[in-house]
Amino acid sequence: MPDVITRPCCNDASCVSVCPVNCIRPTPADPDFFTAESLYIDPDTCIDCGACVDECPVDAILPEESLQPADEPYLRINADYYRDHDVEGGLVDSPRQPKLPPGDLHVAIVGAGPAGLYAAEQLVRTARISVDMFDRLPTPHGLVRAGVAPDHALTKGVEKNFDRVAAKKNFRYLLNVTVGQHIRHEELAARYHGVIYAVGAAHDRRLSIASEDLPGSASATDFVGWYNGHPDHAGATHDLSGDRAVVIGNGNVALDVARILVTAPEVLATTDIADHALEQLRSSSITEVVVLARRGIAHAAFTNSEFLALGSIDGVDVVIDPEELVLDATTEAQLAAGTLDSTVATKIRLAQEFSARPRVPGRRRIVFRFLADPVEIVGEGRVSGIRVRKNQYAADGTTVTPTDTVTELATGLVLRSIGYRCVPVDGLPFDPDRSVVPNEAGRVTDADGAVIPGLYVTGWIKRGATGGIGRNRACGQETASAFLDDVVGGKLPEPFASRDDIESLVADRGGHPIDLEGWKRIDATERAAGKAAGRPRVKLVDAAAMTALASPVTA
Ligand code: NAP
Repeated sequence: MPDVITRPCCNDASCVSVCPVNCIRPTPADPDFFTAESLYIDPDTCIDCGACVDECPVDAILPEESLQPADEPYLRINADYYRDHDVEGGLVDSPRQPKLPPGDLHVAIVGAGPAGLYAAEQLVRTARISVDMFDRLPTPHGLVRAGVAPDHALTKGVEKNFDRVAAKKNFRYLLNVTVGQHIRHEELAARYHGVIYAVGAAHDRRLSIASEDLPGSASATDFVGWYNGHPDHAGATHDLSGDRAVVIGNGNVALDVARILVTAPEVLATTDIADHALEQLRSSSITEVVVLARRGIAHAAFTNSEFLALGSIDGVDVVIDPEELVLDATTEAQLAAGTLDSTVATKIRLAQEFSARPRVPGRRRIVFRFLADPVEIVGEGRVSGIRVRKNQYAADGTTVTPTDTVTELATGLVLRSIGYRCVPVDGLPFDPDRSVVPNEAGRVTDADGAVIPGLYVTGWIKRGATGGIGRNRACGQETASAFLDDVVGGKLPEPFASRDDIESLVADRGGHPIDLEGWKRIDATERAAGKAAGRPRVKLVDAAAMTALASPVTA
């Protein structure tokens, strides 16, 4: 019986290199690796050796015989991938370290999230490469801590891998240090052979509709940061006193937000959700969350695994009006002919199954609306509703055009979840159209397209705000390999300033760096409080309190 990949799949592909028969696809070398929703095991090739089950950092791979009923659809989802992908077996190469010239190498990585940590993972395999990792927050792990939804505990399993990287002798955390404030880019460039920026996409995309910023309308960036205890968002309040919330957007973040709003507080109380959010959610009156998509189900950006999982939330119905499950003519024809991409076909099938389910009176609801475009947020002083225009497909079947039908939906809470955007970084070029730092495979390029020696990017700032946590592993490996190849090619200038003064430079500018030991103290405090409460951790959310607890390296 084959092993099966299920919902928490983080796409970091660590399973791929341990599979003796190469039956897990797509691999990082496959063209669809960066766009596939998940990795899949070929049931016809799998020899059920269990190597991938042991290797998976998020426990997403299960032997078929251990599947729970809710996970059984994954048997078909895994097999379907191989229906429309003709793949060959054979061993997969894991990235190899090139033979480096003699001498120690020093790399600064800015951003202690998954993208930076995966790049570091590749570099610290070589003992004479030292990595200093900077982050403006007192805690590491970026979106694993501040983005992954609290009820997705398994996804946070990747932290074990990050802890292994941080424990290396040639790795050092300098958390609580803001590059651009406590230390400048040019000061890093003068001290390190390479500087890698892994600063992500911390800002929300704008809808550009009337009253977007009316009280009662917030971005998913704010809301996710709030329930995850990000220090920048911990002080926010969200009005949960109405019976309906509206979420704009059709990606996985929209689904996270909708799920958190309808999940029973007693379930959330077993997670690491921030205490302030749990307290407000306990008194929430919201019974219905409407998720608005401007296009149809075939173009939904959420993954099938996240969509499917909504159907198993206790006490919650997923509601879809069959009238709104309209397909464009091309998709309709491909579906009928059996030639539609299996991922899209599964999305449509799941939506049809949801729309056929009977509603149970008294349950909370997530209502999906398709071809529904927000045109204006309305309200006197605060949100009281949202005006929504009905769209129809244009002739190309992918874009939509507006109809004249506009309706108003009453709500006191609008959450805008239409994607993240990167912002320019001091000292680095920026491409405002693509909202990334221009680069070639991680090497930063200037306005003329020339590579800037020693300057690199990885993660969302490199490729845009797309892809889950594990997707950053191949991305980080690519950037790390670019650095190593540049070392081998003699393309990097020698640092000309000493790194010995970094902590005093930071302290002189009012910074209090937190190292691995400091982070361990914060982590241990949170875990101890969690243990007492039957939770994984109780998050600290105040940066000053965390700094004090960590007993910073320099006082
Ligand atoms: P996303 O996947 O890019 O989805 C953005 C959504 O916003 C799309 O449905 C898009 O619709 C819609 N949108 C954009 N502009 C709009 C507008 N002006 N009006 C109405 N709708 C608009 O972004 P995300 O949900 O923030 O997720 C970011 C990345 O993180 C994704 O790759 C996601 O998969 C990943 N992530 C993964 C997980 C997980 O694996 N569990 C969890 C969270 C996030 P159109 O398609 O029509 O443009």
